[in-house]
Amino acid sequence: QLEAEADLVPQPRRQQNRATEHFEKASPVEFHNAADTDPDLPQNRDWAGAILGRMADSELGDDLVSSHQVTNQKQLDEVIDSAIAAGETWRKLPLETRSRVLIRIGDHLAANRGRLIEVMGSETGKTIDQADPEVSEGIDFARYYGQQCLELDNIAGAKPHPVGLTVVTPPWNFPMAIPTGSMTSALATGSPVIIKPAPQAQRTAAVIVQAIWDAFDEFELPHEILTFVIAEENSLGSNLVTDQRVERVILTGGYETAKLFTDLRPDMPLFGETSGKNAIIVTPSADLDLAVADVVNSAFGHAGQKCSAASLVILVGQTARSKRFHRQLLDAVNSLVVDYPTNPEAQMGPVIEPPGEKLTRGLTTLEHGQRWHLRPRLLDDSGQLYSPGVRSGVQPGSEYHMTEYFGPVLGVMSAETLDEAIEYVNAVPFGLTSGIHSLDPDEIALWTEHVAAGNLYINRGITGAIVQRQPFGGWKRSAIGPGAKAGGPNYLLSLTDWTDAPDTV
Ligand code: GLU
Repeated sequence: QLEAEADLVPQPRRQQNRATEHFEKASPVEFHNAADTDPDLPQNRDWAGAILGRMADSELGDDLVSSHQVTNQKQLDEVIDSAIAAGETWRKLPLETRSRVLIRIGDHLAANRGRLIEVMGSETGKTIDQADPEVSEGIDFARYYGQQCLELDNIAGAKPHPVGLTVVTPPWNFPMAIPTGSMTSALATGSPVIIKPAPQAQRTAAVIVQAIWDAFDEFELPHEILTFVIAEENSLGSNLVTDQRVERVILTGGYETAKLFTDLRPDMPLFGETSGKNAIIVTPSADLDLAVADVVNSAFGHAGQKCSAASLVILVGQTARSKRFHRQLLDAVNSLVVDYPTNPEAQMGPVIEPPGEKLTRGLTTLEHGQRWHLRPRLLDDSGQLYSPGVRSGVQPGSEYHMTEYFGPVLGVMSAETLDEAIEYVNAVPFGLTSGIHSLDPDEIALWTEHVAAGNLYINRGITGAIVQRQPFGGWKRSAIGPGAKAGGPNYLLSLTDWTDAPDTV
């Protein structure tokens, strides 16, 4: 038992006290979402201050990253062989034990909340207000799948089998929640996992992997059930995902990466959440104050680097001509504090690396009919810290309308009617998140019926899905594979093979 565990205090409000990190134990059967840190408690401000103090020169995870480099094919083969062998031990455990391990992983992640925020900020520039709920989401995934795997035995007339060796290739933008969700879902179904983290977020992955191994140790399980691999993207990395012994690849990343994977291995058993180009529609009936706040948070949270981010706002009818809406929107965007996450006031941090060609166009180049209301400015010589941008006059069919830029820029479009606005939303090749601000039930019903996206949000922001309450996944080019949503009741089923139960008569 770790020393931290002694600090467990059952009262709900005290549970949010991060002054000392402790295990926040969830019941093994019922699922409850983990609580985010309450920033109003004075002791939490001290706790956050200490994290920010360590963030600038954090070295957490470095040891694990340097000791898990795979540098040649022989090593890669050995890693794959021992993952498959360890998978046999894991597959044979009773579901109840697997469930207990998963729930214990949730406890260990909870005990590492501060460390995870620290290393995420240091490695990817994520601000604490974004990182804290992300840690909650990762904890939720472990516990939810830990509970859900008990259901696998309840499917009438069929016996579940793990699909086998699963490779997880997560993104850098949610370096805690997404790898944790992908790893724990595959583990929950009884498959061994190899994780190859995004190069920009290897140390965050290392902290998660160590927490999972700590849980394995309590059950005397081999670490190879979850193997941590650091490999070059272009050579051994692609050899890993194309290896015929790999039965499933769980990818979260750009649509282009998914295409690359399937070009490399046409029969790739790929399961993926890919890109988005998401819009919020605002109709004349909307509560404009609320709409402004939700558009700003959805567009500029984590500097717009979310698949779920709003990069379009489509103003319907007179809203498009509302001076008040435009003024409020620009004032709100302009007031965002842009800085590195070590500044406790920062609301928007840097982009992950100096923008490539596509994001540079998004931040600099106007097309026909467009104008800048706020032109993104580079705020220092890092090449990464940009002020947020707002452009208007985005025309249907333009590059801006169709392209995911993954950065701090919002485009304003106008539509005469709600039907026209929905047409613009559905014209994009992706279908991940979508939002409407309207106080008219008929408008909401029309939109809900016709909009083509996996996650629909009414009168709220369009980012920040919550495990169990709002399972997350997309349509069209936003999803690859069976399309079950992460954090929802069907996800484990889609990582499972089935045989009919033998006839016992
Ligand atoms: N699940 C995240 C959200 O709801 C988005 C994940 C992503 O960007 O890939 O905001």
